Amino acid sequence: MSDDEIDLTGLGLAEACRKISDLFSQTSIEGAELAARMLLSGATGSSRTDLILSPDRKLEMDASRKLEHFVTRRLAGEPVTRILGSRTFWTLDLHVTADVLDPRPDSETIIRAALEALGVRKDASLRILDLGTGSGALLLALLSECPHATGLGIDLSGAACAVARENAERHGLSDRARVTQGHWFEGLDDTFDLIVSNPPYIESADIADLAIEVRAHDPLLALDGGTDGLTAYRDILRFLPSALRASGIAVLELGAGQEAAVRQLAQAAGLRTRGTKADLGGVIRALVLERETAA
Ligand code: GLN
Repeated sequence: MSDDEIDLTGLGLAEACRKISDLFSQTSIEGAELAARMLLSGATGSSRTDLILSPDRKLEMDASRKLEHFVTRRLAGEPVTRILGSRTFWTLDLHVTADVLDPRPDSETIIRAALEALGVRKDASLRILDLGTGSGALLLALLSECPHATGLGIDLSGAACAVARENAERHGLSDRARVTQGHWFEGLDDTFDLIVSNPPYIESADIADLAIEVRAHDPLLALDGGTDGLTAYRDILRFLPSALRASGIAVLELGAGQEAAVRQLAQAAGLRTRGTKADLGGVIRALVLERETAA
């Protein structure tokens, strides 16, 4: 569908929102109404309150053109996050580009699990490592919750590192967050109190069947977990125990159904499962690990 086929000229805010939402519903776009509201707000600068208090406020010509373009992109399979270039993760508004995985609400489970496992230690001067940091989502959310912690984010993609650094800057966290390009633990001789990662865990053969929002817009590097989806876990777990301090905790994101396999890899590496945490959809999403020798 081209821009000319969606005409929002002369519509009021509420009417435009309804029209877009209906169009999205008809095209089976998930969360049609929320997507409509977010794009409306991104294109016009109007807030949720404007929509409620001034539903008849007419769209300016420029704004309606911009909104039509946004709607066309969403209809073609581009996620709202990519169109707006930002996503709220935990409490942070993060800049998101084509070079980084779109940080999902599911990954907030990692933050919840880590904070629960840390308990009062969250206020200590912790050292945090985020492997495959992407936008910096996990690292920055943790630093925002742990006021005396410092952290390191590592990503194989230099472009992703730049996005993570920009997000650290945006949230006043650059003095506590360092971001470096690298392959997992390679060249690293530091130890950490908390290690987190949302590694690529999709089986290579399944990538072609993912929704267009994922397969065409998330970087392959952040998705492809190899033939059995477990390549990154093997690479990470091989070195993780030696980088984890004696009472340290590691929290790994899991793909659906991967709990048993990753637990087994962790156990073989000398780590004990301390617990798991499900996401809001009930999928076991976080695996919390500690050293066998932990107190
Ligand atoms: N969460 C992504 C998905 O749903 C996968 C991200 C990953 O591989 N870590 O497809």
